[in-house]
Amino acid sequence: MRASLGILALFLFADAIRAEWHTDVRAKMGTEVSVYFWLEDEARGKVIIEDVFAEVDRINALMSTYVETSRISDINRRAADEPVVAGEELFRLIRRSLDISVLTHGAFDITYDSVGQHYDFHERRRPDDATTEAERQHINFRYVALDQGKGTVSFERQGVRINLGGIAKGYVVERGVDILRQHGVANGVVTAGGDSRLLGDRRGRPWMIGIRNPRKDGEVAISVPLEDEAISTSGDYERYFDEDGIRYHHIIKPSSGRPVEGVHSATVFGPDAVMTDALSTSVFVMGVDEGLKLIGCLPDYEAIVIDAEGQIFYSSGLEDPASAEEDSPSITPAPGTC
Ligand code: ADP
Ligand code: MG
Repeated sequence: MRASLGILALFLFADAIRAEWHTDVRAKMGTEVSVYFWLEDEARGKVIIEDVFAEVDRINALMSTYVETSRISDINRRAADEPVVAGEELFRLIRRSLDISVLTHGAFDITYDSVGQHYDFHERRRPDDATTEAERQHINFRYVALDQGKGTVSFERQGVRINLGGIAKGYVVERGVDILRQHGVANGVVTAGGDSRLLGDRRGRPWMIGIRNPRKDGEVAISVPLEDEAISTSGDYERYFDEDGIRYHHIIKPSSGRPVEGVHSATVFGPDAVMTDALSTSVFVMGVDEGLKLIGCLPDYEAIVIDAEGQIFYSSGLEDPASAEEDSPSITPAPGTC
């Protein structure tokens, strides 16, 4: 008995030195970016980690409005005067953003930044009512004109600005996981702030992804088991300040130019992190009813929304099939719902 236990321990030890979980967390893109994966080669694990973070830096240098030399900053400076070449990668992400604006009836709108630029959550700075009202007039994704042939972006009026803060982290984690895949990794996670892309499972069991309690730091409201999917959460508790009982946070309702009220967090999961990122922001803006209706029309995506009373709502695909059956005998959506 003792001998066989000894042999087992030896095997486990041998396995532990050959194979392991690799991980690193760094401050990037105004948040924390982390990478976590299994690989049976320690030296190559370190190389892969550097590759992933180099990709994060490359994308940030191209797409961040906080980087003066980025292509997007150049677009914001000049596109109201002349068409500006975006480069294929940025052009594609802007085009996807505009498509998602159509899908979400304008809830997701990268031109929110004409108002958004006046917020500084570290400094507790916000625009006054007159500024909000004036800048709100420049929010409309239809003011962004793309020329596919020339690869250019132009703005149809002065004052328009774009910001990919609601979609770029999803793009980054997709790219990060692509890099893991290229290196032959089969199990891993790349996370940027509230956006995670899972590669495979956690070696034989699902990843357990915790959705935060939006009003209790460090507490998990719900855990979701997932494999090979993306999951994004948008909340009003990451970048915010409270003033006179009002929470000023970073998700702007395009129609009012003001931070969204009524939802504390919106989580979306599905096959593509670019979509889950943009959709979590969208569902947050649209609210429980409209947001969940939209998700119900997207067969591959599901959502969990926590409203301002702390109540939790699930998209139709997550409802307990037995109780859903009792409530509604038909599974066919009513005509015109989607
Ligand atoms: P996080 O940045 O914490 O992952 P989100 O994915 O919800 O959170 O994105 C919020 C960011 O999206 C904001 O910081 C801002 O850059 C951008 N944003 C705010 N309002 C909108 C909107 N209505 N449409 C598109 N992007 C938005
Ligand atoms: Mg988002």
